Amino acid sequence: MRILTVAVAFIMISVSVSAFFSQLPDPAIDIIHYEFNLLLNDTTDNIEGRTMIMLVFRDPVSEITFDFKNYDSTGKGMKTASVTFDREDVKWHHEGNMLKIYPGKMASRGDTGIISIDYSGIPADGLIISRNKFGNRTFFSDHWPDRASNYLPVVDHPSDKATVDFIITAPWRYEVVGSGHLIEESDLPGGERLTHWKEDVPLPVKVMAFGAASFATSLAGVVEKIPVWSWVYAENRDAGFNDYAVAVKPLAFYCKLIGPYSFEKLANVQSKTIFGGLENAGCIFYSENSVTGQGRAESLIAHEIAHQWFGNSVTEKDWHHIWLSEGFATYLTSVYLEKTYGVEQLVRSMTAARERVIRYYERNPAPVIDTTVTDLMKLLNANSYQKGAWVLHMLRFEIGEEDFWKGIRLFYERYRYGNALTDDLRQVMEDVSGSDMGWFFHQWLYVAGQPDLKITTGEGNVKGTIIVSIEQMQDYLFTFNLELGLKDSKGIRNEKIRVSDKITRISLKADPDALITIDPEVRLLFRKK
Ligand SMILES: [Zn+2]
Repeated sequence: MRILTVAVAFIMISVSVSAFFSQLPDPAIDIIHYEFNLLLNDTTDNIEGRTMIMLVFRDPVSEITFDFKNYDSTGKGMKTASVTFDREDVKWHHEGNMLKIYPGKMASRGDTGIISIDYSGIPADGLIISRNKFGNRTFFSDHWPDRASNYLPVVDHPSDKATVDFIITAPWRYEVVGSGHLIEESDLPGGERLTHWKEDVPLPVKVMAFGAASFATSLAGVVEKIPVWSWVYAENRDAGFNDYAVAVKPLAFYCKLIGPYSFEKLANVQSKTIFGGLENAGCIFYSENSVTGQGRAESLIAHEIAHQWFGNSVTEKDWHHIWLSEGFATYLTSVYLEKTYGVEQLVRSMTAARERVIRYYERNPAPVIDTTVTDLMKLLNANSYQKGAWVLHMLRFEIGEEDFWKGIRLFYERYRYGNALTDDLRQVMEDVSGSDMGWFFHQWLYVAGQPDLKITTGEGNVKGTIIVSIEQMQDYLFTFNLELGLKDSKGIRNEKIRVSDKITRISLKADPDALITIDPEVRLLFRKK
């Protein structure tokens, strides 16, 4: 996702207070499929739900636990009415953020079961029921990171992916968009309409989505047989279609660069998400103010589309490896801009990213993979986004352009529709490059900070040479290439220096008054001391 504007940041802080760290998934249970039936109305914010969950037992269990927010003294939350397991009523206990179900009979390894849960209530979060900027009532799911369980009983962890159906019944004036492909749209007696979206690709709950509003809908194009739809507020028809049509460009670019797109369609949806954009699989939600009619949303759209490969199809197996999602989306956006508008776009974005990483480090000296974080909203930081992007940028020049993109493609191919950890990426990069990369992943992702370099130059003893001394001022000694740009009477050239010691001294052939530029191509994450 993309965080934007001060107002958005403020809302996020208020959310982070109530965010709860969902349980780790029970390894004995694997959710295969969710079917969410929801009844929406215009008189109250109360929703009625029936969720069917198909699961497989990896081991026998006597209880099954779902993340599911019970109603509390605020009057918000969900009240469970009944639960069945394989169509028989069973005992259950719903308290706090957990719904425990006792199937009664012991399942054997490999057995499947279907749980059905009936409930109702007013969502405290996760489903945003509000008025949009035109004063019209709208419903938008907003699940990231573990907010779905405010209104849906789920295993709210990225490692348990499942296919999903959204079957939404709402007053007829709402059009409903959702994950997957459209299965049914029927007018019902009594002024309601039922809309059924079916997603056959397993998703983490965080990017399952539906939205209901008065929409204008247009086909922006077809890329590699994937239809690209714009869903915008009816009042924003012209401006929204104009701004979202650009989506076909990054979609085509990433298909070629990384591999085939994983979902049935791509819908770009104007919404009430609290984020600048939320990368819901095949059904991206953008903040309502992303529509300006000025075509200013290209990099936001490119970021969310990149997530369809990394985050949605290849999903981080645990929250603390979120850089595999946000770092990838951030870097791929820079690469899209580089290839579309020229290399100076990449230089500009990496320079800005480096400044953000250093500023963040000065306030918060933590590594990218920081298992001490328990508030998931706090994972949305410069380490996950900008430093993650920098790790990929440096990897590209460490192993070379060809092996790097081969590695990105292989990582996608190997973990498509599944989950991966940082170590899986390391393995892939070692496979393509034939070199040990453990040191690289360790120093950039598990060590806080970056090289703090004191660089001094002086005239050498031999005529026509300059002595350059590079000192690493921080505690942990990094290994990296440092490029120096030289400009003198012999012309302009770059020298690449391998640094791994505390102090590295080299002698360069150059005029004594040569102009030296440190890291002229912006390829090293470092701080000048
Ligand atoms: Zn993102």
